[in-house]
Amino acid sequence: MSKVFHRGLLIALLVFAGLAAVPDSVFANHSWGNYHWARTSDWFTLKLGDNVSSKWDPILATTSGDWSASTVLDTQIVSGGALSNVRRCRPTVGRVEVCNTTYGNNGWLGVAQIWISSNHITQGTVKVNDTYFNTATYNTPAWRNLVMCQEVGHTLGLDHQDENFSNANLGTCMDYTSDPDGPPSNEHPNSHDFAQLETMYSHLDSTTTVNQTSQTGKMPPAMRDIDLSGPAQWGKLQHSSHGGWKELYELDFGGGHKVFTFVIWATDEEDNPNRGHGPR
Ligand SMILES: [Zn+2]
Ligand SMILES: [Zn+2]
Repeated sequence: MSKVFHRGLLIALLVFAGLAAVPDSVFANHSWGNYHWARTSDWFTLKLGDNVSSKWDPILATTSGDWSASTVLDTQIVSGGALSNVRRCRPTVGRVEVCNTTYGNNGWLGVAQIWISSNHITQGTVKVNDTYFNTATYNTPAWRNLVMCQEVGHTLGLDHQDENFSNANLGTCMDYTSDPDGPPSNEHPNSHDFAQLETMYSHLDSTTTVNQTSQTGKMPPAMRDIDLSGPAQWGKLQHSSHGGWKELYELDFGGGHKVFTFVIWATDEEDNPNRGHGPR
């Protein structure tokens, strides 16, 4: 209820602000729910734990370099904290773990998961599914770059700019496409993504959730230990995109503790059991 009210208020404020000159960045609004990492300084380095195989290493390096072009943050690749079980890809507090393996014919190319405590991201994971990336359709640098860039983008707090798979590319990895190399290429962020990050990270917080060694606040044990490997564990469908692809799930543990799951589905899976219209 309050979310609805806030959204209404936000729209009202935007309409009001629209009467005056407003910078473009205000309208490049594709953060999701204003969730962001808490920081006490105006610039931060987010660690990306490298749990990926050698085939993915240059892709992860490209994505890390892409997002580090932002004026508000850098990403830094560090040795992975989930190497012992990349299927599970357990999160590490204060950073993002990135994993790949053959997760199976489950329909998804990539999944990003974010743990939220009172509007702040406390940890995140990215999984990319080699079951599809080992096939001729998806075994291309363009598909790999699109999915890695988009999923890491979600862990920064960004939403999609566009969710239609078949319209013209916007030139950003935060745009769904069936043709990631374009032109224009959707393998990397664009200026709207960077403008959105500047807007999201223009304020300072009184605490930081980046690079912490223990959880800030009390994360419910169930939230820490849950295995989030499939849609049955992802919680309530929040949003399905153009064409009915279920794509954003929310698991609410109460007290401001939530886990969000972003999914990018394999578009050529006509029999994808997860494709459907409306909530499950
Ligand atoms: Zn904040
Ligand atoms: Zn996505």
